[in-house]
Amino acid sequence: MNGSRFGLTDRLLVAGPCAAESREQLRAVASSLRDVSADWFRAGVWKPRTRPSSFEGVGEKGLEWLAEIRKEFGLRVCTEVASPYHVEQCLAHGLDALWIGARTTTNPFSVQDIADALRGVDIPLFVKNPLNPDLKLWIGAIERLSASCSEVHAVHRGFSLVDNGIYRQTPLWQLPVELKRLMPGLKILCDPSHIAGRRDLVFPLAQKAMRLGFDGLMIEVHDNPDAARTDAMQQLDISSFKRLLKDLEVSNTDEDKDDLSLEELRGRIDDIDLQLLSLLGKRMKLSEKVAEIKRENNMSIFRLKRWDVLLTDRMERAERLKLNREFVKDLFELIHEQSMEVQDRFIGGMEKN
Ligand code: PEP
Ligand code: MN
Repeated sequence: MNGSRFGLTDRLLVAGPCAAESREQLRAVASSLRDVSADWFRAGVWKPRTRPSSFEGVGEKGLEWLAEIRKEFGLRVCTEVASPYHVEQCLAHGLDALWIGARTTTNPFSVQDIADALRGVDIPLFVKNPLNPDLKLWIGAIERLSASCSEVHAVHRGFSLVDNGIYRQTPLWQLPVELKRLMPGLKILCDPSHIAGRRDLVFPLAQKAMRLGFDGLMIEVHDNPDAARTDAMQQLDISSFKRLLKDLEVSNTDEDKDDLSLEELRGRIDDIDLQLLSLLGKRMKLSEKVAEIKRENNMSIFRLKRWDVLLTDRMERAERLKLNREFVKDLFELIHEQSMEVQDRFIGGMEKN
């Protein structure tokens, strides 16, 4: 590998345009990426689009262009596949890696068809998260594909929620974190481009992913992003991409090298967690007592006024303690839901007796 990767030397880097648009466009991006030496050059040739009137990719001729890029620039090339036909075409054109898009990961039938088409072909795969925040679906796709290929990586590209806030797709960092816990050997990349949906958010997202310890990045780069036929708002131009690589601070992920001064703080955090758990246990016991009285007086479990007063009070206190409002709201909603569950089970149990 030649060229400067800055802090990213021990991480995977996939870069290139959202879509292959012309031979000239691919050559322009590939030649200016020469001194960056990405592990893989990406370009979609079949583009999954929401409406059929949008540009749906150049199809097979894009594979010929990618094969030329591979030969001329010595870059390993990859594209998205969504069907056995796509797989067959990519293999025929000698592509080096494939990725499974978010819409495909959502559908186990399609994933299985792709896995079957890959049987006996060991090619690196990138599996984007499904559109919806369903970790099992993501794991299922990784498992199906791992039955055929030995090098399977995951890509966090954000999730499609009802409200995505400032993002195009909401990043749910806890999902890749849990995926890593369940599959520690798996490499997980972040695709800040599809999370961001706009150029100015790509760097902070990539930086966050590196701080969290992701194993790599997949980033969309175009020689003339404003004129791009797909995802124009989020593709970086060449110089912004190079600046991003230069400015990224990449943290080390080796837990064996953890600083010993963390130990004391971790001990104190452990103590607090034990207290939190013990308090939660006590709180749920009180919920049972509450349930008993509600049952005796034939009262509904959910009491609107009490809940409203409680939540408002906790949010006000949280604010004074400078705790994040959304976090405290989510936390008390969870506690309240569990309390109602405990009461329901308690009353149900009493009825059976
Ligand atoms: C892409 O990488 O261009 C793409 C379509 O990705 P996703 O499946 O994450 O939307
Ligand atoms: Mn794209």
